[in-house]
Amino acid sequence: QSIWQAIPQGPPDAILGISEAFKKDPSPKKINLGVGAYRTEEGKPLVLNVVKKAEQKIINDPNENKEYLGITGNPKFNALSAQLAFGEHSPVIREARNATVQCLSGTGSLRVGAEFLAQHYTVHTVLLPSPTWANHHKIFPLAGIKDVRTYRYYKPSTRGLDFEGMIEDLQRAPEGAIVLLHACAHNPTGVDLTPEQWRGILRTVQQKRMLPFFDSAYQGFASGDLERDATAIRLFADAGLELLLAQSYAKNMGLYGERVGALSVITKSADVTKRVESQLKQVIRPMFSNPPRHGAAIVVEVLSDPSLYAEWREELKGMAGRIMQMRQELFRALQQVGAPGSWNHILDQIGMFSFTGLTKEQVRVMTDKWHVYMTFDGRISMAGLSSSKCHYLAEAINDAMR
Ligand code: PLP
Repeated sequence: QSIWQAIPQGPPDAILGISEAFKKDPSPKKINLGVGAYRTEEGKPLVLNVVKKAEQKIINDPNENKEYLGITGNPKFNALSAQLAFGEHSPVIREARNATVQCLSGTGSLRVGAEFLAQHYTVHTVLLPSPTWANHHKIFPLAGIKDVRTYRYYKPSTRGLDFEGMIEDLQRAPEGAIVLLHACAHNPTGVDLTPEQWRGILRTVQQKRMLPFFDSAYQGFASGDLERDATAIRLFADAGLELLLAQSYAKNMGLYGERVGALSVITKSADVTKRVESQLKQVIRPMFSNPPRHGAAIVVEVLSDPSLYAEWREELKGMAGRIMQMRQELFRALQQVGAPGSWNHILDQIGMFSFTGLTKEQVRVMTDKWHVYMTFDGRISMAGLSSSKCHYLAEAINDAMR
């Protein structure tokens, strides 16, 4: 008998489980709109040209080796990542108030940040938007931030933002609570705040002395413009707030499996920042010792070489543009087939995902009858769609709704 004879079967991952079911489906019509990864019009994964060029440079560099990085990773990567998020002329960077450390993509950056907070921040309450990326609900309590609450974010009736509800819930939260904010391209809803609404949230966060923790998994990927997608982060940082930021290069540089990202902790002074960084090392060392080299080296090449940087911006625009075009085409197809209701939200929502408004039962029809794989909350990945499939998808949606 095994020690684990009675171990229960763990639940399949809500998102990765869909890909497994998709793989098993023999139908030639099948479409996978579950997972959040960019696909070309032909449905293939994309390695950016700038990434291939950067990798070539790295391979040809005689000084490149496979030594360990330091505990906080590649220092150039950290500096460039902070610059990308906070802006070249950011007072935070000028005053050396950012402790930026390389971590394992967005997820790892969130986890290191949460463990740091569990050890060095007194308020163990975190507010998450409702809904949010499901992993947020696991990361914080496992790191030791046990009191997880939610604030209203999405309003099903308008398929838009519940701004009043959001403000009310933040105002009701305990003084000093951690508040998780999606920097742009909210996952799963695709609903973002306007700059004016962000200023309202900033005022509430300041009044309640909350600690903002930005999750930035889609900078440049949402609008196609790196600066525009950093608006919220920069608004808060330039207002002088202390905050945390988790950055991921999974989507915007297509480095998904390279696991490259950064955590920044912004404080009030360079002196405090130094000590914060020393404590981040204490979190990282026993967790994964030090981060991997390759992805960070790619990011450094792309961000520090002006011609690669310019090319990256174009490729980003291309990816974001294709997604926006899919929104237009799906919208038109839904109108053509006469799918009930207004579909303006497909156009208004931003980023990789769209919240269709389909119910769990309707999603079941989509999958069982039409071989369209998507999450049960009605979310579809626009990045997984192609022109040739918009009409079929619209027909499926129309049928599922009747
Ligand atoms: N945060 C959000 C909101 C996301 O959507 C994702 C990816 O789907 C992540 C963080 C982290 O992804 P990764 O760990 O691959 O960078």
